[in-house]
Order: sequence, then C-alpha cells, then structure tokens
Amino acid sequence: MAIVESINDLPVQDPPEEDFSSADLTWTKFGTTENHDDAALIPYDRVDDFIIGEGSNLECPTRFHIERGRRRKMGIFTEYKDDEYLEYKLYWCSFGPENYGEGGGILPSRKYRLNTRNRAARPQSMRGCTCNFVVKRLYARPSLALIIYHERRHVNKSGFVCHGPLDRDAIGPGANKIPYICNEIQQQTMSMIYLGIPEENVLEKHIEGIQRYCGSNAKVNSLASQYVHKLGMIIKRSTHELDLDDQASIRMWVERNKKSIFIYQDTSEKDPFLLGIQTEWQLQQMIRFGHRSLIAADSTFGIKRLKYPLCTLLVFDSRQHALPVAWVITRSFAKPDVSKWMKALLDRARSVEPGWKINGFLIDDAAAEIDPIRDIFCCPVLFSLWRVRRSWLRNIVKKCNNIEVQREIFKRLGNIAYSIWDGSDTLVALEELTQDFVDQTAFMEYFKQSWVPKIEMWLSTMRSLPLASQEASGAIEAYHIKMKVKLFDDSHLGALQRVDWLVHKLTTELHSSYWLDRYADECDAFQNVKEEYIASTSWHRALQIPDSAVSLDDKDHLFAKVLSQKDSGTMHLVWNPGSEFSFCDCAWSMQGNLCKHVIKVNMICESRQGYKPSMSSQSFKDVLMNLLKKPMDDSIALDHSMAWTMQMLDQIRNLVEVSSANDIRMVVNNLPLQWVSKKGRTSFGKPLTNLTLPSASNDPRSTAARKKNRKRKRLSRLR
Ligand SMILES: [Zn+2]
Ligand SMILES: [Zn+2]
Repeated sequence: MAIVESINDLPVQDPPEEDFSSADLTWTKFGTTENHDDAALIPYDRVDDFIIGEGSNLECPTRFHIERGRRRKMGIFTEYKDDEYLEYKLYWCSFGPENYGEGGGILPSRKYRLNTRNRAARPQSMRGCTCNFVVKRLYARPSLALIIYHERRHVNKSGFVCHGPLDRDAIGPGANKIPYICNEIQQQTMSMIYLGIPEENVLEKHIEGIQRYCGSNAKVNSLASQYVHKLGMIIKRSTHELDLDDQASIRMWVERNKKSIFIYQDTSEKDPFLLGIQTEWQLQQMIRFGHRSLIAADSTFGIKRLKYPLCTLLVFDSRQHALPVAWVITRSFAKPDVSKWMKALLDRARSVEPGWKINGFLIDDAAAEIDPIRDIFCCPVLFSLWRVRRSWLRNIVKKCNNIEVQREIFKRLGNIAYSIWDGSDTLVALEELTQDFVDQTAFMEYFKQSWVPKIEMWLSTMRSLPLASQEASGAIEAYHIKMKVKLFDDSHLGALQRVDWLVHKLTTELHSSYWLDRYADECDAFQNVKEEYIASTSWHRALQIPDSAVSLDDKDHLFAKVLSQKDSGTMHLVWNPGSEFSFCDCAWSMQGNLCKHVIKVNMICESRQGYKPSMSSQSFKDVLMNLLKKPMDDSIALDHSMAWTMQMLDQIRNLVEVSSANDIRMVVNNLPLQWVSKKGRTSFGKPLTNLTLPSASNDPRSTAARKKNRKRKRLSRLR
C-alpha cells in the first residue's frame, strides 16, 4: 500500500452505524517511508462511537482507557504542520500496558513462601496488552480527529494474543476453553463476593453477564460455576499480610499495585510515611464528578485507633452522594507533605485530562493547612460543619443523661456557632454556658479539655470560609459512618495497627462496594443494591418524608414534630428547628448522626417566615454583603472577588435545595452582574448556567440534556 504523506490526502470517514470499529474504516499508511502508522480521519464528535465500537471487538472484547493526554490552546501557533494537534489522547487496551501475570513484575525478595494464589486474585486484569492508538483533534481542522493505530493486535510484548477467547493461557490448564470474562463482569463478580453475597446469586449474575458474549450452553455454565467458586476461594484465602512485617508488606503491595498509587514515601529519617491510593476507576470518577465541581475531605479518620490516620477525598456523584476517589494514609499534616500528595494527585488527573479543574475544596478540620489547597488546586476553600456537629452531639448524648439537658446544651452550642457574625463575645457565652450547666460535670470537663482551647480557631475558620450545605455535610457523614461500620467491626481489632490491613480493606471491600453501587445505579441492575445506595444519605431519606408528616410549633419555634412513616404511633421531636444544631430524639440521631427528621424539618423551615436561615446560607450572604461594600471601580480585586462569588454561587445552587436559594437570589440580583458579560477578561468567573433557576420539567433543553446524559452513561461504561 502506498504511503500518504499529507493528511489532506486522507478521506474523512463517517460510518453509518451508531458505534463502529477499526474494521469499519479503511486504513491508510500515513507518515514517511521509514516511519509510518495506520491512520484514518473521522469527525471529532464520533470519537466516542469509535471507542465504544472498538472495545466491543468479538475476538478481544475490552475497554480502552486514556493512558496519556495533552491539550493546546488555540492560537499558540503561527505556523504548524497539518497533523498538529489541539488535543492528544493516547488510548490503551485496559489489559495493558502493565503485565501482572506470570513473569510480569519482579517480586521483591521475601523471607518466606507466599501464598502464590494471591496474585491470581485479579486474573486477566493486566496482561501486558500492547494494543494502543492515538486520537488527535486537529489544530487546523478541530472538527476532525485523526486516529493513528500503533498496534492493532491484542498481543503482549512477546507477540502472543494475551486476552480474549484466542488467548491460549488464560488461567490454568484447559483455560483456552473458558469463556471470555471481561473486566466489568470480573469486577462485578469480585465485588459481589467481597460483599458476602451468596455464591448462587453471584453465579447467576455472572452467567447472565458472560452470556452476552458467548450465548448459553451447559459447558459454559459449568465452567462459569467453577470460575466463580475458584474466585471466591481465592478471595477468601487472600490475605493482607504479604509479610509478617507491616512495613515490608506495604512495600510489596506498593510494588504490585503501581497503577493504584499516586504517591508513596516510605518512612525514613527525614520523611514520614505517606501513601496515596487511587485506582484507575477512582481516577475516572474524580475526573468525571470533580471537574468544575467540589472535592471534599474526610480527614483524620481513625486518628485514635489506626496506626496512621486516613484522609479520604470525596466527590459528589450524580446523586450528590459522597464517593471516595482517593485515600491518603499518613500521620503528617505538615505543609510540605500535604503539598506533595496534592500535587501528585492533581498531576495524575491532568495527565489524563489536561484541563481538569475543581471549583472548590471542602475541608472539615479547622486545623487543616489551607495554603497547599489554594496554591495547588487554585480554588476557594469551603468548610463543613459535620465533624464539629457530630462530636458535640455524640459527647452530649454520651455524657449527659437527661434529654432536656442534652437538647438545650446542643442548642446553646449552636447559638455560639451562629453568633460568629454578630460580633458577640464567645468567651462570655462560654462562661455562661459553663455556669448554667455546672452540674453536667462529665460533659463540661470534656468540653473544657477538648474544645475551649481551640474553639476560637474553629469559630474563626467558620467565619472566614464559606460554609457547606447540610446536604453536603450529610453526604460526607454518610461516607464516614460506612467506613466505621466496615473498618471497626470487632473481628479486626488486632489488625487496626497494620497499614497493610487498612490498604487491603480499602482496595477490596470498600472499593467493591462503591463500584457496585455506581454500577447498579448507572446500568439499572441489582435493584436492592441500587435502592440501598440511593437511600444511603439522610438527605435522600428526608426526601421520602411528606410535608404533612411535619408539624411546627408556630408560636415559639421551639420544636417540630415528625410523624414516623414506619410506625404511625411514633412521633419524633426535633428541638431547635431550622438550625444546623437541631436535636432529634430518634435512635439514629442519638448516635450522633444528622438524621432525616432534622433535615426534613430544616427543609420546611427554610421556606417559612420567622426561622433564621441555615449557617451555610448566612455565610454565603455574608460573603456577598462584604462584596457589596467593595468599591465599585474597575479594580482587579473586584473582578477577582466577583469571579469567586459566581463560582461559589454555582456550587451552592447545586448543593442547597433550590427553594432555599430565594433570598440569596435577591441579593445576587442586586449585584453589579454586568461584569459577567465583559467577556475576555478572566474566564473562571463565568457562571456555568444562567442565573434563573431552572424549572425541572417543561424546559425545552431537558430533552437535549437527557440525551447528553445517555451519552455520558454510555461513556461511563467505557471507564
Ligand atoms: Zn488488548
Ligand atoms: Zn431523627
């Protein structure tokens, strides 16, 4: 075949099928006589169709992931070659590039024989496949994409087919007859086993999955049954303890799981231990849900019980639930170490999605270092009250016996938090509190010891940072509770001091559980998993309570009553309604949690006269009022603060119930919004949506949005 040297000689191909693959395209040798590859030119907006089609290859079904990406700005070249790119993405078959199979990585020397079955716990996942191609969005013609195929066969370095039905040594003797099990089914089966679902149910779902590829017959079913059983045994036998010594064990784990690590620093004389875990899937979720959105930290988890505390980075997924996208295990909160891992995390995301950017970072610890966040993520920092609320409530319930005393102390503490804007003296308020409840010795002792010394720091953080909504706080708390249940059940007491155990637990059980939740929701499978996942935050549970079940005390606004939905004879009393520091007498709340009754009551109070607004909307109002006081000149400072405000507004609108935004909107409408139309000054202040709040149903754009959603759904299957 002749070699084409100019891209202008390549025809643009636009196959009629919804998804298409390389077999549907005519490939041309493109380049020079010495150096050329197979190339084809397609419309840029059909790239996704190609990637889906290419992964559905019957001989080697797979997924393609972005291994590397780069992007350039329009207008940076005055002269350029006709194949110069605006966007460059290197797609790799997800069975590579690493090889975790036999002869793959080199295992470090070990003191005793390992259970070699461990390594097979992810059979077929990484087999060193070299199949890869590049998609270039053309600089000269951005509506077109050039696909350059480097290796079209799914072979490993030695040139052997390394996965799919033609793979001769899939797993064990006779394995070539084993039906192909794609990543997704394998992940699904593993997740179900990790979650303790009975083997027959796992098998049923497993067979359903593989039949999509190979039809139904007795042989396939019996092999599938063996496979599931074997995988179950492997998982049961797999252990976190790769070495008796925890440090050596972690080193080995790190060596074997390079793809799931974004930073690792072993303990040494000058550096503390630091391990950042993020699987491929988590990376994709972070890019997808974190972009132009929020990241939240559940910091200092297990600071008392674990060897090193765990910090989890969370994104809010399509249901606004908190989804863990990275885990950082370290004892160091020092600036240089925090900067190190944050930078590594950002670099990793940008290596795949060059324009990736978050709009806000939510912290929950007043002692957290803020500078690294601002320097590295270049975004506003927000504060969430969930941690302080939770520890106050838990200790009040634990240390005071009388429920009337409990709710009154909680209310008073809430008042102190609410008073940050009215300039009242915290010390005086604290003094009064101590005197009024002088007989509550156990609680007062705790409070004096743990809070009084640092309360100024916490309050000033609340005052200076915008506050996150109750929905966000509830979502983070739901994650935190799930972690506690999974990690601190009594069977692991001896293991809490081992990092390898924590890592194992996170990357197997926890990861599987979140993977399955998302999968169930996006593919509408596993109805019970899906329902449980949807109802996993108090916010969603609160939405199930009808307004009619709530009655307010209209006279003094002292309490509200919520009729139980399950048991119509039961009534829950919510003390101090309309506040983040409302106190409910239900069992869930008495454990220190933000319960659905409090959230429901607060949703109603937000639209009623006479109740004060939540702390998060007060805090936002405060930011806006400060802004109003700024000189109305053309200064950069004004531009800058406007930009942040618009961005925050966008975030808050996503998180706060739309109805509660009414009064905020009035304030916003009075602002010098004309600024926003001055295009070309700075880009980050531009709101993503227009200012009017969208109505849900009769919006003509909703059909388009739905279509887009479907597309996104399909894309998410790619990842
Ligand atoms: Zn491959
Ligand atoms: Zn409750």
